[in-house]
Amino acid sequence: MRILIVEDEHKISTYLKRGLEEQGYAVDAAFTGSEALDWVQAAPYDLIILDIMLPEIDGITLCRELRARGMRMPILMLTARDAIEDRVTGLDAGADDYLIKPFAFNELLARVRALLRRNQDAPKVNTLQVGDLILDTLARRVSRGGKRIDLTPKEYAILELLMREQGRVLTRTQIAEHVWNYEVYNQSNIVDVYIRNLRRKIDDGYELKLIRTVRGVGYQISAEKDETL
Ligand code: CA
Repeated sequence: MRILIVEDEHKISTYLKRGLEEQGYAVDAAFTGSEALDWVQAAPYDLIILDIMLPEIDGITLCRELRARGMRMPILMLTARDAIEDRVTGLDAGADDYLIKPFAFNELLARVRALLRRNQDAPKVNTLQVGDLILDTLARRVSRGGKRIDLTPKEYAILELLMREQGRVLTRTQIAEHVWNYEVYNQSNIVDVYIRNLRRKIDDGYELKLIRTVRGVGYQISAEKDETL
């Protein structure tokens, strides 16, 4: 899952970015509205955290502009405590939720998760399954054949993406775009390194290998018997 933070206060932006990255999200930071517009042209975001108080273009105007451009990702607005009208205007402008500054990081995280869940095609599905591999998206827990598997946040993010798109082949770029921010995802073999670790944790010791390499294209996850293996 990829998140864009639009906030001109570097301290807050850095704090949010670090916290969200620890949770396995890929996070980019824009410090002005026009920077934000550049970012959303360049990469697909699953969610935007948007501060209302920005230089040049304010958050409300930016939110309207994003919606006018047909962008449908959830937008979480950050507003000042005393600006009640801002919240209403923000929601009218197309924001999905708002959070009043100052806020606890866990509160932000809960809102982010709720918005991302709401935005998924099948909102009631909290469990993804491929063969005997099960991923619980609420508890962020993974098990195979009933055996718990511990994953790092990035490994988890890749696995969740593959499982949501099970059977589909995803290119390295598609995987990287969803899991890393801009600075990282152009590095060529990072996806391969993580897939190798995932395989070790998920497929080692099992006859049926779930993570498949599709040569020259990318990776997929599937529980169907693959005769070419
Ligand atoms: Ca601000």
